[in-house]
Amino acid sequence: MYFLDVILPIPLKQSFTYSVNNDEAAFLKPGMRVAVPFGKAKVYTGIVFQVHAQQPMGYETKSIDHILDEEPVITPLQLKHWEWMAAYYMCSLGEVIKAALPSAFLLESETIIKLTARNNMEEATLSDDEFVLFEALQHQSSLHINDARSILDRKNIVSVIQKLLDKNIIEIEETVYEQYTPKLKRYIKLAPQFTSEESLRELLDTLTRAPKQRDVLMHLFMLNSQTRKPISSASLQKKSKVTASVIKSLTDKGILEEYFIQHDRVEFSGETSIEVKSLNQAQATALSEIEASFQTNDVVLLHGVTSSGKTEIYVRLIEKMIASGKQVLYMLPEIALTTQLINRLQKYFGEKISVYHSRFSVNERVEVWKNVLNNKAKAQVVIGARSSLFLPFRNLGFIIIDEEHEPSFKQYSPAPRYNARDSAIVLANLHKAKLLMGSATPSLESYHNAKSGKFGLVTLMKRFGNVMMPDIELVDIKEKTRKKQMTGHFSDRLLEEMREVLKNGEQVILFQNRRGFSPVVECTTCGISPQCPNCDVSLTYHQHKNQLRCHYCGYHMAMMQSCIACGSETLDTKGFGTEQIETELKTLFPDYKVARMDQDTTKGKHSYAKLIEALENEEINILVGTQMLAKGLDFRNISLVGVMNADNLLNFPDFRAHERSFQLLQQVSGRAGRTQKRGKVLIQTYNPYHQILKQVSVNDYNAMYKEQLEERYNYKYPPFFRTIKIVFKDKNLARVQNASIWFGQALEIQFKENILGPEPPPIGRIKNKFIMNLLVKIPKSQSLEKTKKYIENVQRSFNSVKEFSSVRINIDVDNY
Ligand code: ADP
Ligand code: ZN
Ligand code: ZN
Repeated sequence: MYFLDVILPIPLKQSFTYSVNNDEAAFLKPGMRVAVPFGKAKVYTGIVFQVHAQQPMGYETKSIDHILDEEPVITPLQLKHWEWMAAYYMCSLGEVIKAALPSAFLLESETIIKLTARNNMEEATLSDDEFVLFEALQHQSSLHINDARSILDRKNIVSVIQKLLDKNIIEIEETVYEQYTPKLKRYIKLAPQFTSEESLRELLDTLTRAPKQRDVLMHLFMLNSQTRKPISSASLQKKSKVTASVIKSLTDKGILEEYFIQHDRVEFSGETSIEVKSLNQAQATALSEIEASFQTNDVVLLHGVTSSGKTEIYVRLIEKMIASGKQVLYMLPEIALTTQLINRLQKYFGEKISVYHSRFSVNERVEVWKNVLNNKAKAQVVIGARSSLFLPFRNLGFIIIDEEHEPSFKQYSPAPRYNARDSAIVLANLHKAKLLMGSATPSLESYHNAKSGKFGLVTLMKRFGNVMMPDIELVDIKEKTRKKQMTGHFSDRLLEEMREVLKNGEQVILFQNRRGFSPVVECTTCGISPQCPNCDVSLTYHQHKNQLRCHYCGYHMAMMQSCIACGSETLDTKGFGTEQIETELKTLFPDYKVARMDQDTTKGKHSYAKLIEALENEEINILVGTQMLAKGLDFRNISLVGVMNADNLLNFPDFRAHERSFQLLQQVSGRAGRTQKRGKVLIQTYNPYHQILKQVSVNDYNAMYKEQLEERYNYKYPPFFRTIKIVFKDKNLARVQNASIWFGQALEIQFKENILGPEPPPIGRIKNKFIMNLLVKIPKSQSLEKTKKYIENVQRSFNSVKEFSSVRINIDVDNY
């Protein structure tokens, strides 16, 4: 009798032990998946951790339901990396696994399945069990796995579903993703009896009266001798200039045969089409400095201003790496994963590129996963958002983290609350791979690491083609308001510049950090503004739908006619969002095409790409948007960037707010003037004397770095102290307050003044839960490991306090 430790994708920290027989024990390897029963009526897919002969004490082990893999889908190295993540970010290995694996790998009781749109299914290829489920799904549009269990025998349910998934007959219901339609492409070949030259000639002789059919055969024969690749029906039709019916009559006669090949859903049509650009002097120097730095450093930071041509440098490094047969991971913030960049890289690397991110369907992600696992050429370079870190690399040689300063590399919720940039350093280490970070505005942490010698540092301060950095002007809107030089939210300076630019046929980008029409509706009689019933925030007015919406929980209601408190019809709007700017623009510039880019306008899978394309094709004259605009876009014809209001960035209550504002404003400004003509940036603000704005306007990263670093030092923040945030949530305000005070006091015994709070966050209630935060600051001299142990011990005692049993705790290490 053997035992199997399985990791389940749940928040519990221990593994679970099942019994297996001798054969199973011999077959199972760590990283394979097994379906196991759990609790009274649940089934989970778990990951094999280890097989042993140690009977667990105190309970009887159940046997597993089924083994789902012939080979591990997870590598030993991945498991090691994930164990590190679980320990570092204080969560369970199961939670990491749940985040890491595409959901199609982790079928469980809660999973819902349905038929795919495919209809040319051959029933004969199904086993009895598969057929039963298939039939059940004909009568019912979707099935819970638990329902499926009662239809079939419990033991094999997960494996039957897995087979149907692999055969593309069913799919997992996912509301977030676009529907997946299998792409089957039609191919044509000669029937086997005609493949010899002799038989073909005979055949052609019999077809003298059907010249078109003869033509098709001749072309097919020619294509066959030119290329060994499959010949698609479409290309044959085109080559021989016939209609589909000619080909059909040949197949009807049995001379031609049709067959289907499933095309990878994420497929690029790509031959590599352009030669790699030659680097200019500054780029070439930077490249050789990076390579030299890699001789002694595992991590190098490339600090290169916007449009300095960092991507071309990455391309060179990737080229060398793949020539040596290694895999490359190119990580970007989700939002920078534009078709623009992907197209650019495809031109260099063609089909060696795979893209991996959450906007893709599960099936697409499974495909990339398998390609990476099997070290396939077509996944030699993976471009992806933070979750691409979890792919099963075999032979990873190089990781690039572009826009390394981006906060979206950090996952806030759910656990693991990991930072993909930092976790990638550990991953590179495990693979003995090199890692390059790039940014025009590095995070304070990374720059500090580079300055203190922990990372290599290479700088590139010139824009490509000697394009000048944009000319940045601050516009004092307090002054402008006083002098009545504002039209709506536009200063006369901004309007003047816009007119000039538009007249020349150039484009304008306007940045506004908020979506919606106008954040707050306020009654001018009694001063009350409508609040979300579930969260402590004011509702945001969306003109387009005439609604008030909560951006935290999605609550919405129709805009009211009169004040709910006093009944007066004196509702007014305060503050403003992208939608309102768009509306103002339409009256200010009726002759120009205005578009908006924010979360509301980019919901569909392709809407973001469409907007970018329209901008590229100059079908849009003025684009107004949120920070979505700031990332990695490269347009030729934008000569003016306007920031509508810089103050709400600067006033954000967070120790990173100033650093963030600098980064965001520099990145947005970087969209201006990427060609010979110098770009112009206008930043409207009530506070033009703010240090950060001055530093932005003269493009002085170093001054910003120095000043911010000093503040971080004085106030004990990263990079000098580490932080762990502990978040408490409960429906009852008093309870969550007491719980956080209890916890805080327990921590203070050990960590004294390095415990901050508890205090409520700026928004003290979200989705009807009250929130309290505790912050643990950890000096560099204090052991991080021991600190976490201590917190875990406190948490254990906390969990045994009955009064607090409903209080949820989240722990966020290196919180953002
Ligand atoms: P960054 O990533 O630093 O913002 P990019 O790599 O996007 O800069 O380069 C900015 C622009 O300059 C792009 O349009 C790119 O095609 C062009 N460019 C950069 N390097 C070269 C080069 N060596 N030859 C030709 N064009 C280049
Ligand atoms: Zn009122
Ligand atoms: Zn709400």
